[in-house]
Amino acid sequence: MDVIESIAAMRRARPRFATLGLVPTMGYLHQGHLSLVQAAQQACGHVAVSIFVNPTQFLPHEDFNRYPRDPERDLRLLREQGVDVVFMPPVAEIYPPGFSTYVDMAGVTERLEGVARPGHFRGVATVVCKLFNIVQPDKAFFGQKDAQQCVVVRKMARELNMPLEVVIAPTVREADGLAMSSRNVYLSPDERRAAPVLHRALQATKRAFDSGERHGPTLRHTAETVLATESLGQPEYVSVADPLTLEEADQIGPDGALVSMAVRFGKTRLIDNILLED
Ligand code: AMP
Repeated sequence: MDVIESIAAMRRARPRFATLGLVPTMGYLHQGHLSLVQAAQQACGHVAVSIFVNPTQFLPHEDFNRYPRDPERDLRLLREQGVDVVFMPPVAEIYPPGFSTYVDMAGVTERLEGVARPGHFRGVATVVCKLFNIVQPDKAFFGQKDAQQCVVVRKMARELNMPLEVVIAPTVREADGLAMSSRNVYLSPDERRAAPVLHRALQATKRAFDSGERHGPTLRHTAETVLATESLGQPEYVSVADPLTLEEADQIGPDGALVSMAVRFGKTRLIDNILLED
């Protein structure tokens, strides 16, 4: 497994692989990340994983400096998985002094996570664009866990004519339903016990949808009622939206709906979502 820190070395390594899948991550890997690696291996044969805690997608008050990091463990897990290349550049390699070019998408970036985290998706789109240009993968793999990120990356790749396919893989969960996330380590034992309420709320909307409910506000209320049973969690938003435009849905049509939410447990903010489809 090659561990590469410079853009020049990544460019030199690229021609060794006929077909290459890319899995962008911020490290502190868990089974959710590894499921993307496996999907990439099956689809492409060869896989590059990037590990880069991207400063431009964190707001000034957010957890960039205390974001969990364990590069040695990450490299061991990726070696065991048979990954071909790990690209882990220092911040100055991606954002040299004077850097000032950003990918700024209107519309879908301003809703949901974009309300609580203005500028977040500008950082995400910019770094993903740079990683695509540096690694030049045939396919890039993202997790449904970050549903809005998937919408933004797909739209960017299509609208900027990037020559690759964006593949979305399902959310990997703990046994009690909590979506795996590097940030789950922030939860206190009580908060960790309470956190599966997000999954229970999403499952409740799925049951209602499967029994025929198509009214967005009613489904939103269903989720909010379940969230209210857990006093440690403070909901930030619950949304039932069009899966492509992310506009709030009144009546859910043939394209289905994306139910998504952010809930605060103390200082930790958890997100989760489910796609409701016929
Ligand atoms: P992160 O390191 O949090 O930036 O995540 C890197 C990639 O892994 C993103 O595409 C995430 O959507 C994906 N991911 C994170 N958690 C999960 C999960 N529980 N299941 C599936 N994919 C995930």
